[in-house]
Amino acid sequence: MAYHYIDNYREKGARKRLVDILIKKGIEDKEVLRAIGKVPRHYFFDETFWNQAYRDIAFPIGEGQTISQPYTVAYQTQLLHIRKGDKVLEIGTGSGYQTCILMELGATVYTIERQEKLYERTRFILPEKMGYKPHFFCGDGSVGKADYAPYDKIIVTAGAPTVPDVLLKQLKIGGILVIPVGDEETQKMVTVLKVGEHDYEKIVLDTFRFVPLVGDKAW
Ligand code: SAM
Repeated sequence: MAYHYIDNYREKGARKRLVDILIKKGIEDKEVLRAIGKVPRHYFFDETFWNQAYRDIAFPIGEGQTISQPYTVAYQTQLLHIRKGDKVLEIGTGSGYQTCILMELGATVYTIERQEKLYERTRFILPEKMGYKPHFFCGDGSVGKADYAPYDKIIVTAGAPTVPDVLLKQLKIGGILVIPVGDEETQKMVTVLKVGEHDYEKIVLDTFRFVPLVGDKAW
């Protein structure tokens, strides 16, 4: 595998075209679009596959996992309504691309990945090559990360069978959870707004296809 961290006019142009595609597909949040236009997605691709980096597709990153489709990243991020300084728990670090987008919006990110090889790779690339310094953890994120709770926002980037109660407990009042829920084939994007200590407003949105969330409160 050969990675090169060069970002020149060719990649910048490709990112601009990707942003235009996302606008056509209905992404409206200007800050989210700015972040997509800024983060060099090709840094997560082997040199051989650079020409795939700015297509609106998910792509294998090893260990049977994928870097999410840019549209999916933009869609989930838009639903989180990130404000500068938000404390965000991300479950499923993967490549770290979504992490960078959240940090570009000013969030402080606590991110968990269960695959050790991905965790090690991303823990190196984000701070060393891109200047993003989230809090990295390796382990089962389906139980959240209680020792740093509560969070303003929680995002799950793998498909869950149900909304884990434990994640709702780790949200602040007024906080938002975004999680794909369904079977192993397809999932509906679900947002849950915590309106009181034990009160939640749940909205079920569009259909997606994620790799499974594997763990104690998952598959
Ligand atoms: N947003 C990421 C990206 O763009 O690279 C998405 C990565 S992928 C779609 C989902 C990730 O969730 C995979 O890397 C997978 O290993 C991880 N995952 C699955 N179950 C998990 C769990 N219980 N805890 C932490 N990570 C988990």
